[in-house]
Amino acid sequence: MTKFVYNFHEGDKDMKDLLGGKGANLAEMTKMGLPVPPGFTITTDACREYLNKGLVPPELETEVTQALRDVEDTLGRQLGDAEDPLLVSVRSGAKFSMPGMMETVLNIGLNDSSVNGLAKVSGDERFAWDSYRRLIQMFGKTVLDVDGDLFADALEDLKKERGVTADVDLTADDLKGLVETFKKIVQDATGEPFPQDPRKQMDMGIEAVFRSWNTERAHIYRRRERIPHDLGTAVNICTMVFGNMGETSGTGVCFTRDPSSGDSGVYGDYLMNAQGEDVVAGIRNTLPLSALKDTNRPVYDELRAIMRKLETHYKDLCDIEFTIERGKLWMLQTRVGKRTAGAAFRVASQLIDEKLITPDEALERVTGAQLTQLMFPQFDDSASRTLLTRAMAASPGAAVGQIAFDNAAAIRMAHEGTPCILVRRETNPEDLPGMVAAEGVLTARGGKTSHAAVVARGMGKTCVCGAEELDVDLKNRTLRVGDRVFGEGHVISIDGTTGEVFDGKVEVVDSPVTTYLSHGLEAGLKAAGDDEDMADLVRSVDRLLTHADEVRRLEVRTNADTPEDTERALGYGAQGIGLCRTEHMFLGERRALIERVILAEDDLAERAEAMEALVPLQKGDFLQMLELMDGKPMTVRLIDPPLHEFLPDLTELEVKVAVAEALHKDGPELAKDKRMLTAVRKMHEANPMLGLRGVRLGLYLPGLFALQIRALVEAAAELKAKGKDPRPEIMVPLVGSIRELQLVRDEALEIIKETEEKYGTELNIPIGCMVELPRAALTAEDLALEADFFSFGTNDLTQTTWGFSRDDVEGAFFGLYTEEGVFGVSPFETIDTHGVGRLVKLGVKKGRSAKPDMKMGICGEHGGDPDSVHFFHKVGLNYVSCSPFRVPVARLEAGRAAVMSED
Ligand code: ADP
Ligand code: MG
Ligand code: MG
Repeated sequence: MTKFVYNFHEGDKDMKDLLGGKGANLAEMTKMGLPVPPGFTITTDACREYLNKGLVPPELETEVTQALRDVEDTLGRQLGDAEDPLLVSVRSGAKFSMPGMMETVLNIGLNDSSVNGLAKVSGDERFAWDSYRRLIQMFGKTVLDVDGDLFADALEDLKKERGVTADVDLTADDLKGLVETFKKIVQDATGEPFPQDPRKQMDMGIEAVFRSWNTERAHIYRRRERIPHDLGTAVNICTMVFGNMGETSGTGVCFTRDPSSGDSGVYGDYLMNAQGEDVVAGIRNTLPLSALKDTNRPVYDELRAIMRKLETHYKDLCDIEFTIERGKLWMLQTRVGKRTAGAAFRVASQLIDEKLITPDEALERVTGAQLTQLMFPQFDDSASRTLLTRAMAASPGAAVGQIAFDNAAAIRMAHEGTPCILVRRETNPEDLPGMVAAEGVLTARGGKTSHAAVVARGMGKTCVCGAEELDVDLKNRTLRVGDRVFGEGHVISIDGTTGEVFDGKVEVVDSPVTTYLSHGLEAGLKAAGDDEDMADLVRSVDRLLTHADEVRRLEVRTNADTPEDTERALGYGAQGIGLCRTEHMFLGERRALIERVILAEDDLAERAEAMEALVPLQKGDFLQMLELMDGKPMTVRLIDPPLHEFLPDLTELEVKVAVAEALHKDGPELAKDKRMLTAVRKMHEANPMLGLRGVRLGLYLPGLFALQIRALVEAAAELKAKGKDPRPEIMVPLVGSIRELQLVRDEALEIIKETEEKYGTELNIPIGCMVELPRAALTAEDLALEADFFSFGTNDLTQTTWGFSRDDVEGAFFGLYTEEGVFGVSPFETIDTHGVGRLVKLGVKKGRSAKPDMKMGICGEHGGDPDSVHFFHKVGLNYVSCSPFRVPVARLEAGRAAVMSED
C-alpha cells in the first residue's frame, strides 16, 4: 500500500518529489535535531490520487489521524482542544516553489470555544481573538473562496469606527466583534457557517491545497517556468508557534550569505510581536538581524549557530524562516536560496575557499545562463532617462543608437561608425544584414519567438519586440510614439532585459566580466576598478571557467565567417572554427559574377570564366581567416543556400520587365532582365529549404564547389609555404547519400593533389560532411566510409525531422505549440533530445561503428545552448561549435556536463 503521510521524523531533503521542497527540508531539519515544530507531510502521491479521482482517498484520512495523534501525544495537547488547544498551519509545498499556489492557512483549530482556551493559556485575550479573526479571514479567502476584500473592508471600517490606524491598536473586545462580523461574511457568501470542527477545518484546508494545483494561475506559472503539470503538491501540517505573543516574540527571514551580491556574512530581517507574512508584507518597518543581537543575545547566538550548521549541511547558501515564541527559537523553513547570477559565482568560489565544496561541485552551482547575464552590457542606473514605451524583453542587453529603418541605412551607419538600432514593424530573413550591422533591434510586432527575437538572441544582440505603441512609417521614414515623431537618425536606447525603450542616449557600461572574457583576468580586474565586489566576481568567474576548461571533454569551437567574429571568438577561448560559412563570399560586388555563372547556361566557356574570376577573391578571404586560425582547425562549409538567394527577387523583376515592356523600352538592359527573369523563374522553388541547395547545388552546377575548394586549398598551400600552420577542413552540406559525398570527395582529392604538386607541399585536409538529414543519420555507417569527420547540423536536422520550415513555423504557430505543451521550449532553441537527439545518437553510433575514432561535432545554434551541450557531451561528440559570444557559456556548460554526468 502506498504511504501517504510522513511524519517530519521520517523524511529527508532528498525526498522532494514525494514531500515537496518545503516538506523535505522540514524533515531534514528535524533529522538534524533543529527546533522544528512537530508536524507531518502529506505526499504528492496523495495529491495526484485526489486529482485523478476527485476524491480524498480514505486511506489518507486514516493516516492523517494517526500522524495527528502522534503529534498530539508528543505535545500532550489536542487539535482545537477547548482548554489548551493545539493549533496547526496547513502549508502547500510543491517540488519547485510556486507562487501561483494556495497560500498557507495559519491557526487551524481555533473555534468559538478553543479561542477561550488559547486566551487562558497564553494569558493574552487580545492575541487569542486576533489569531481567530486571522484564521477566519485566511480560511475564508483561500479555502472557501470568499472575496478577500470583504474581510479587509470590514477591518478597515472597524478601525475607522474606533479612530485607530494600526491593527495592533484594536482591543480584545474589538476583535471579538470583528470575529462575529467575519463569521457573518462567511455565512452570507457561502450559505454555511464557518466550520467549527477543528478536524474539518484541517481536512478542508488539505483539500483546498490539492485543488490549488489546478488553478489557472498555477497553470500559467508552471507553463512559464516549464514545470510539468503532473507533479502535484504536498501539504504540510505544522504545529503553530507564535511570534505575536508580545514583545519577547517575533518572526523573521534570513540568508546565510547575501543573495544579491554574494557577500559572505549573514543577512536578514525580523519583526517582534508579529506573525507569518508580516515581515514580507511590509506592514511595519523590519529590523536588521544584527539588531537581535542587542535585544536577545541568546536567541541571536542560537540562530547564528543554526545558520552555520545549515550551510555546512547543505554546503550552500540557505534561506531560512524562523519564529521566536516567548524567547524560544523555532525553525519554520529552509531551502537552498535563490540568488543573482553574480552571487552564484561568488558564493561558489567562497565555498571552495572554505573547503565546503570541491571545485567540481562548485561547477554545479553556476550555470551558463547566469554567465550570459553577467556578459550583458548594462544601462547605467544612475543616468537620467525618458521612457517612451515598454514591450517584450526579447534578447537581453542595453543598446543605444540612431534609428535605422532598413538594411541600407543600418549598414551605412555602421560603416560610418555610428551605432544604430534597426527599427522595423517586424523582421524577416532579409533584414539580417541590418540586424548584424545594428547594435540592437526594435520591432512593433511579434513575440518572443518572432524572427527578430530568435535571431537577435542567437546573435546575442539586444532586442525589444512587440512594441505595439510604436507606429513605424516606412514611407515617410518616421517612428511615431503617441504624439511624438522621430525621424531616421534620432537616437534611442533599448533595454532588452526590461523591454524598455528610451528617448535619447542612456549611458551603458560594459560589464567587467565581458572585458575579462575577451582580454583576460588582468584587464577584467582593471575594468572592475575599486569595486571590490566586482573584482571578486571577475576572479570567481575566472576560477570556475578555468576549472571547467580543465575537466571538460568537449572541445569548444565557434561558428565564424568573418575575421572580426573569428577574433572575438578566439578571445573568448574558441579552439577552432566548427563552421565557416562561405555564402557571403558570393555577395556584394561578386554577385555580378554569380549572375554571369547562372546566365551562362550552356555557354560553358563563359561560365568557367566567371567562376575563374571568383577564385582569387575567395582565396583572399580564406587566407585572412586561415592566418588568424593558425594552428587551429577551421571547418569550411561549401556553399549551402539555394541559388535564388543570390538572384534578384522574382516579383520585383517581373514588375520591372512588365513596366519596361509596356513602355516599349527595348534595349540591352531589358534583354538582360528578360534573360535573368527566365533564369530566376527556373530557379524559383516552392520550398527552397528542401530544394536545390547544399551538395545538390554543387553537383547541379559543375565547377561551383571546385572553385571554392581550389581557393581554400591554394590559400592553405600558400600559407604553408610561408611556414604557417593552416588547418582547413572541407565540409559538404546537406548530404543524404554516400554517392553524393563520393562525387564531391573525388573532385576535392584531385584538386588537393594538383595543388600539392603545384606548390610542392603536402596538405593534410580532412573532407567530411554535415549530418543534417534524417537519411544521413540513418545511413551514417555508409557515409563514414567517405567522410573524415561528421558535423551534425542540428538546425536543419530539426527542420527535416519535424518537417518544419523554421522561417514559416516560428511566427505562425510556435506560440500556440508552446502554450499547448507540444513542446516546453522551441526545438530550435534546445535540442529535442527525444526525437532529433535520437537521430544524433544513432548517427554517432553508426558512424563510429564504421570508424571508431571518427571526429564528430555539432554546429548550429544548439552548440551554445546549455541543455543541448549536456546532451552532446552524453552522446560522445568531440566538440560543439557555437556563435562567438556563446563560447564562454559552452566552455562552462561543457565542464558542468563533465562533472555532472554519471560516466
Ligand atoms: P510560503 O511558501 O509562502 O513561504 P509558508 O508555508 O512558509 O508559505 O507560510 C507562510 C508564513 O507563515 C511564513 O512566514 C511562515 O513562517 C508562517 N508559518 C507557517 N507555518 C507556521 C507555523 N506552524 N507557525 C508559525 N508560523 C508559521
Ligand atoms: Mg515560507
Ligand atoms: Mg544546414
